[in-house]
Amino acid sequence: MLAHRALVFPVPWEDPRLGWLLTEFRLVVNESIRIAVREDIRSRARLTRTAYKELSARHTLYKQYIPSAFEVALGVLKVHRRRVRKGKQSSVPFLRRLLLKAENQSYWLDRETGRLRIPIRGTEGVQFHLPLSDWHRAMLSDPSWGLGSLTVVPGKVIVTVRKEAPKPYEPDGAIALDTNEDSLDGVHATGDSAGLLRVPFDGVRLIQEIHFRRRRKLAAKKAYDRRVARRLLNREGQRERRRVRQRLHRVSKGLVRFAMEARAAIVLEDLTLHGAGGRSRRMNRRLSVWPRGELHRQIEYKAVLAGVPVIKVNPQWTSKTCPVCGARRRDRVGKVFVCLMCDWEMDRQINAGLNILKTALASNEALARAVRFQPGALRHDVVSPLYDLFRRGTGAREEPSGVESQNGMIQSPDL
Ligand SMILES: [Zn+2]
Repeated sequence: MLAHRALVFPVPWEDPRLGWLLTEFRLVVNESIRIAVREDIRSRARLTRTAYKELSARHTLYKQYIPSAFEVALGVLKVHRRRVRKGKQSSVPFLRRLLLKAENQSYWLDRETGRLRIPIRGTEGVQFHLPLSDWHRAMLSDPSWGLGSLTVVPGKVIVTVRKEAPKPYEPDGAIALDTNEDSLDGVHATGDSAGLLRVPFDGVRLIQEIHFRRRRKLAAKKAYDRRVARRLLNREGQRERRRVRQRLHRVSKGLVRFAMEARAAIVLEDLTLHGAGGRSRRMNRRLSVWPRGELHRQIEYKAVLAGVPVIKVNPQWTSKTCPVCGARRRDRVGKVFVCLMCDWEMDRQINAGLNILKTALASNEALARAVRFQPGALRHDVVSPLYDLFRRGTGAREEPSGVESQNGMIQSPDL
């Protein structure tokens, strides 16, 4: 499996040749779409045979961009054809935004200095000095990351790097977590033993609240000038996202490392499915979907690189089901889930995590072989936060000064 990362760089955008290049590229994409529709072409090879000669005669842009334009055109068409197949209305599409996509043999990048050369036409090209951060340097100096395609949009260059990811291991256990406003909550189960687990978000909710208030104040103060207000609000939003993202990186890194060392699969709810989480409308508004989706995205790509299997399950009913007897509550569940059929009681968020594990065990054979899960045994278990892991930074995890509890979970002494 190939893992991808995108390195994004802001670039100066004064050279008019760049605008010309992107406009030409868009033109070639849109002409390719029309040809592919007319001739009912679905493969790049056939599109090349049919259209390359004509398009390269009519357009003077660097020739190697034409096959990339075919790729973009076929991608756009695929979406269109799927819509048509599903009976939805869809007119013949065209690419609206300015864009250039180049394969790795079409551009030249000095991985040490960040000097980038993008051909325009013939031997003519433009050069950039990509502003490399420490993180960019670390990625680019690591030879196991190969250069992939390059995307240019006005003011921005995106370099894709890729590397062969290890095959995910056969899990010895599972870490099943429900994604909430301020933490991931659930359970770590291995063999016959299990322990409750909470992964706190490091103050993400506080940041969101502060920025929410600040934005509201800003909007009120600048209400007389919508343009100024929008600009300031945008900036606030970007600042907030950056601060939140940084904390989520610590969370995802710690979780993936913990899973890898425990040889556990990570089980999460599939946020793309309808009704994810079953949360109230008010909460959904306050907590945009973004941080949860962003956290899942980070966990997934880090897991791929570490060979940690990730399993996504349908979150329907996870917050309203009793994991012991299977009874469902159809009314609202408060902070604590209380089963009306048996005497089970559990923190609502942890309870959802237990159900996520049960769902995964019911559908994943490899996991069911590794874990025999009995939620009833967790009735009086203490929830362990993963604080320790996050505080220690990089490097191997050594045994914390706390004690190893019987169920294998690490208990932090400073709880
Ligand atoms: Zn029950």
